[in-house]
Amino acid sequence: MTTTRFAPSPTGYIHVGNLRTALFNHLIARKAGGDFILRIDDTDPERSKEAYVEAIQQDMTWLGLSWDRVERQSLRLDRYSAAADQLRAMGRFYECFETPTELDLKRKKQLNMGKPPVYDRAALALTEAEKEQLRAERGQGHWRFKLDLERIEWTDGILGEMSIDAASVSDPVLIRGDGQVLYTLASVVDDIEMGVTDVVRGSDHVTNTATQIQMITALGGTLPAFAHHSLLTGPQGEALSKRLGTLALRDLRQQGVEPAALLSQMARLGSSDPIELRDDLTTIAEGFNLTHFGSAPTKFDVDDLFPLTGRHLQTLEHSALADEIAALGVPADLSQQFWAVTRENITTRHDLAAWWRLFSQGADPVIEAEDSEFVAQAMTLLPMGPLDGESWGTWTAAVKAATGRKGRGLFMPLRKALTGQQHGPDMSAVLPLLQVIKARG
Ligand code: GLU
Repeated sequence: MTTTRFAPSPTGYIHVGNLRTALFNHLIARKAGGDFILRIDDTDPERSKEAYVEAIQQDMTWLGLSWDRVERQSLRLDRYSAAADQLRAMGRFYECFETPTELDLKRKKQLNMGKPPVYDRAALALTEAEKEQLRAERGQGHWRFKLDLERIEWTDGILGEMSIDAASVSDPVLIRGDGQVLYTLASVVDDIEMGVTDVVRGSDHVTNTATQIQMITALGGTLPAFAHHSLLTGPQGEALSKRLGTLALRDLRQQGVEPAALLSQMARLGSSDPIELRDDLTTIAEGFNLTHFGSAPTKFDVDDLFPLTGRHLQTLEHSALADEIAALGVPADLSQQFWAVTRENITTRHDLAAWWRLFSQGADPVIEAEDSEFVAQAMTLLPMGPLDGESWGTWTAAVKAATGRKGRGLFMPLRKALTGQQHGPDMSAVLPLLQVIKARG
């Protein structure tokens, strides 16, 4: 059975970059009728926060990215020490005592000599007595996995044939001196024990994958299929990392971006398939194909989400917004009409409030000097009694007859006087909604 996971560290809010990973894994599981696990990578007790765990779940729920179960690494520490013991017994795990400063010096020396900055395995030469002494001086050491120095190969679902020389990679540290289990060990143990069949993540994990393949094999696990999607950049190709803080899913939500817009964009951006608005995850999943994605960095422009959002909103029936419209104070008998008039004139749901303000309180009229007499005269001709879909036509016909104005010179000053805007919905639909006019004597 297909099993995928989305494995955020709860050290911040999830952003558009994380969403790509979450969505791809979700779609793969759903398309295959498999399981999608939300795995909270919280082995770092200092940086992990419960508030972020909740926020991640809220953000995913908002998008409809349902999961089949939640796993927490902080509850599985015994599993990680069991795996560490197994690796130790195999002679694939060794204790090191270098300080960060010493490691940094080693790296600098290697780089100066034009060599790759790979850990030199000096700790492998330590005798038991030397280790005892180092422990006494420096405390417990940190533990590294001993890579087999051979080429590590896999067929990547996006990048194709991959081959990494293990000799060009440092033996990964799996447990810190203070006992904290690091991501690589926890992730490998989880992927094996949770039966993860497909791992899709950002291309910043390619080197991790090489080491994880050796670890999974050493621990007797079955290798999942790996795929690494490109990283997002800004519209100019600039790194997004600094801006990701402002591209948190909750910020986009607050700006009025609709889930359908975000999901439609993210499920296709960076692939050879066009971005088309799809209104739900099922239809998004139908056209989704991981092999259509390319390895080049993917340009992301947050502004593209707004036209998609507007187009999605236009497709919604009144019932989908009835509560929201009522909450704005729109009387029930005007609600349908209000939606019919505004649906094609909003970019996000937030714009509804501005339209209702305009209809209920009137706009700041925009009246050009040369139109002021004309507008004043027109106002005296507004038909009395309740206004309906015919009223605009009746009124403008009367104004035309009285003033001799026609076309744009007739309609535009009236639109601007009543709505404060040059563009907007059909005035014959707007007029009956204008509460100020309705309330006049
Ligand atoms: N917690 C890791 C991250 O957020 C998970 C990476 C993975 O999918 O293995 O980068």
